[in-house]
Amino acid sequence: MTTSLVCHAHAIAPSRVIRGEQAWQRGLPAIAALCQRPALLGRSSATQSIRAGLKADLTGSDLTVVEAQLNFDCCEEDLIRLEAFLKESACDCVIAAGGGKVLDAGKLLAFRLKLPCITVPLSAATCAGWTALANIYSRDGAFVSDQSLDACPDLLIFDHGLVRQAPNQTLASGIADALAKWYEASVGSGSSTDGIIQQAVQMARVLRDQLLIDALDAMARPDSESWVRVAEACGLTAGVIGGLGGAQCRTVAAHAVHNGLTQLPACHGKLHGEKVGFGILVQLRLEERLGGNQLAAQSRRQLLPLLKQLGVPITLQDLGLGETGLNDLRAICSFACRPGSDLHHLPFEVTETDLLEALVSTDADSRSVSTSLETEA
Ligand SMILES: [Zn+2]
Repeated sequence: MTTSLVCHAHAIAPSRVIRGEQAWQRGLPAIAALCQRPALLGRSSATQSIRAGLKADLTGSDLTVVEAQLNFDCCEEDLIRLEAFLKESACDCVIAAGGGKVLDAGKLLAFRLKLPCITVPLSAATCAGWTALANIYSRDGAFVSDQSLDACPDLLIFDHGLVRQAPNQTLASGIADALAKWYEASVGSGSSTDGIIQQAVQMARVLRDQLLIDALDAMARPDSESWVRVAEACGLTAGVIGGLGGAQCRTVAAHAVHNGLTQLPACHGKLHGEKVGFGILVQLRLEERLGGNQLAAQSRRQLLPLLKQLGVPITLQDLGLGETGLNDLRAICSFACRPGSDLHHLPFEVTETDLLEALVSTDADSRSVSTSLETEA
């Protein structure tokens, strides 16, 4: 079949994006145009005071706000409870204000209840405010599945002042997650002859290059132009690439490793992008060892010092898995290698043992094939 006969359907972008300083204030009329009785969804106590401010502003715009809280990660238990609550409360819109899991839960609730969706990221840790995708976790934070939605949010408000209040490590996590776009999209799109996909992959390369240039300055100076470029790269551009490129510009091994890692409670304290950053190193190690890709070895050597300076885990020890037994490590690998896993978008076969060898050698000298696993076995 030639590519011209393939039909792609993908949700590309939110209907409207308002970004910048004071974006929230400037966005209030756009919110009021979408609803009268919005549910304001959030989770962490850390963002409680911010959400109280948002609620006051919405009330000041003559909207009746119904507050809704996630108790866990974005899990079915929370979703079922909140779906019933929002229905009972006759909400006519979902405003999700928080990190990736709150944004994902908000998108899923709006999708299931057929309501407009407004995302207000309170960190730059993920591009979940943009995308038409949501990850579902267990109550305890283990990745269960991802779901494609019909549409991106109706309105995305990326308010720099709000995002700047998040802990700096959320930005580091967002940088690692956004860097993954290039490493995953360039492999996942393979030899696609589709122009839109090729162009989206090139956007991922430009995104990576800008992050390599600006990331450390952005981390050090939240009031700088670098910060704005980096925060928007993580919160917005990474979403543009997934939207434009569709399924072929999405996740490969870095995210499959993330999904595997979430199966172990020991690394639940780490942020999404922190696990994805480690996953990039694992993917590059696989490409290097199984794909014979010397460029991958070079990329890994280039990324190691940056991720280290960002405080993103580069080894199992950094992830808090230094003392983890072989059985638990095998559980990560078997989840990441299960049938249908995005890991299999790599252009070569990967066994659980191959993956285990990559997991324990993310910081290895590229010529060294001996791993701590071999001494353990
Ligand atoms: Zn991600």
